[in-house]
Amino acid sequence: MITFYPGPSKIYPQVEQYLSDAYQSGILSVNHRSEAFMTMLKETIETMKINLGIPEDYEIYFCSSATECWEIIAQSLISTKSLHVFNGAFGEKWLEYTQKIKPGSSGFSFDINTLPKISDIIADQENEVICLTHNETSNGTALPFSFFTELRKQTEQLIAVDATSSMAGVEFPWKEADLWYASVQKCFGLPAGLSVLVASPRAIQQAEKIGERDFYNSFLFLRDNFLKYQTPYTPNALGIYLAGRVMKQVESLPIVSTKTKKRAKEWYAFLAEHGYSVLVNQEDVRSDTVIAVSGSKDQVAYIKKAAKENGIMLGNGYGVWKETTFRIANFPAISQDEIDQLKNFLKGKSSLPA
Ligand SMILES: *Cc1c(COP(=O)(O)O)cnc(C)c1O
Repeated sequence: MITFYPGPSKIYPQVEQYLSDAYQSGILSVNHRSEAFMTMLKETIETMKINLGIPEDYEIYFCSSATECWEIIAQSLISTKSLHVFNGAFGEKWLEYTQKIKPGSSGFSFDINTLPKISDIIADQENEVICLTHNETSNGTALPFSFFTELRKQTEQLIAVDATSSMAGVEFPWKEADLWYASVQKCFGLPAGLSVLVASPRAIQQAEKIGERDFYNSFLFLRDNFLKYQTPYTPNALGIYLAGRVMKQVESLPIVSTKTKKRAKEWYAFLAEHGYSVLVNQEDVRSDTVIAVSGSKDQVAYIKKAAKENGIMLGNGYGVWKETTFRIANFPAISQDEIDQLKNFLKGKSSLPA
């Protein structure tokens, strides 16, 4: 079965060897305060920083999931309220998780074919953090670079970005936001159970100003440990090890990003040419890493089923688009050969069988 599921998604085939190497190396049985573990964690962080082009003065911490990052930000980076700007299910869930911890937080929703207006987003300067979803996995939209640049120019407010289904797939304007996070079962091509949280010096300052240290995953507690290349609790050492190996293996992000964007362009052209409609009409807000194809309920059900019978797993629709879309992950670990197989399958299937 080849999979185009947008998370958990296809993992790099080299991971099989890395699993065995991890076992052989003994790293999985060492204490997480030992020299061997700290060296491994340091190397993983350094390799990732270089590969992804993360600014020198930004820091990386590993947590367990993107969902955990929602809570960490709510607990530790917001004292009273944040603003959540979203057009789909993941952005909305982030708001809901945050409101349980910081009830004053609010949402601002926008249409999938537009960009939110910056003047609306920054209207209330009391919002301590502006929360954005870079790549909305549920509907295949993404915010362009220029949006982050423009927003940053117009406000001093802290900016946090859920980049779960795009980090390590496309390049980011790191400096234009203060918190970026992702879990590794999407563009990193790794098994689930690890997330990457990237923080700017301003984010760290804000956390220090708030001074929250009440939870096992409080931002400052996490950071204190990571500054010593340790972790607050016994970590997912295997996940960290695999992340380090994959970051060493893959080409640097600018190269990967160019390839991802080229493949996305080819996907959108292919779909148009073969009679498929893409959920998002507006080209400049289409995602490069998750493509949502829309159709009638029957059509979508038929294509998903026929694909499965041909050994191809498509992504289900998500949220309100559950039954009227299917999703195609365009993640770096997917090979060109697999893409060609899916394209061959999709040819001639855009209309229902008689
Ligand atoms: C997958 C996803 C999440 C949730 O990730 P977990 O690792 O399951 O917590 C959050 N946000 C976005 C945009 C996602 O695609």
